[in-house]
Amino acid sequence: MIDIHCHILPGVDDGARTLEDSIEMAKAASEQGIHTIVATPHHRNNQFDNYREDILTRVDELNRILEEENIEVNILPGQETRIYGDLAEGLVAKEILPVNLDTPYILVELPTSTVPKYTNKLLYDLQVEGYTPIIVHPERNSELLSNPDKLYELVKSGVLTQVTAASLVGKFGKKIRNFSHEIVQSNLTHFIASDAHNIHGRGFVIKAALQVIEENYGSEYIFNYLENANQLVTGETIVGDVPERIVRKKFLGIF
Ligand code: FE
Repeated sequence: MIDIHCHILPGVDDGARTLEDSIEMAKAASEQGIHTIVATPHHRNNQFDNYREDILTRVDELNRILEEENIEVNILPGQETRIYGDLAEGLVAKEILPVNLDTPYILVELPTSTVPKYTNKLLYDLQVEGYTPIIVHPERNSELLSNPDKLYELVKSGVLTQVTAASLVGKFGKKIRNFSHEIVQSNLTHFIASDAHNIHGRGFVIKAALQVIEENYGSEYIFNYLENANQLVTGETIVGDVPERIVRKKFLGIF
């Protein structure tokens, strides 16, 4: 299995702090059946910056060490970029790193509580330039939670999304769990990934999440998510099922 979102590079963000942490995370991933991890350090999130060339160097280093340690996990380069107005220029300037260096896919994080006004236009413009943006953990954005049509519109315009495994099993609370299930049911996501930061509070949880999906929606969903991750790292075109709007039942006017 390929994990497309993980903070496994040591000492670059709020993920692995040391090389020992990275090694522990790789072992934990391997136990979950993960053989390939896209390392996606934060970039431009007001706290951490990780530029393309630095990430490439660090991924090489970590792969060399994992090989020495006989841990059969391969790290691929990636980046989790917080959306910003000049993101397209950042790609041209080789600041931004697409998944596995030369695929058209870029992981984009929204702020926690808002969807900036320029989001739709920017993500559309990126597609015109030949890139496919992937919004990571849309289920954790409170504006999308209260207005899921916004997510539908983005996916309909060709944007892909990644739901975090821990969200599906309730580790971020009931609201986020319910929203992540609505997203899965409405074909508004294309990947399940760990977004693991460590082996404790923010671990992999992939096995448990896939089990929940299989029990609720069937193994075809799992197959599609795994296949999409394969196609992502090789840069193939990913075609999702037709997205649907999330329709919520109204109880006593609560919504
Ligand atoms: Fe992340």
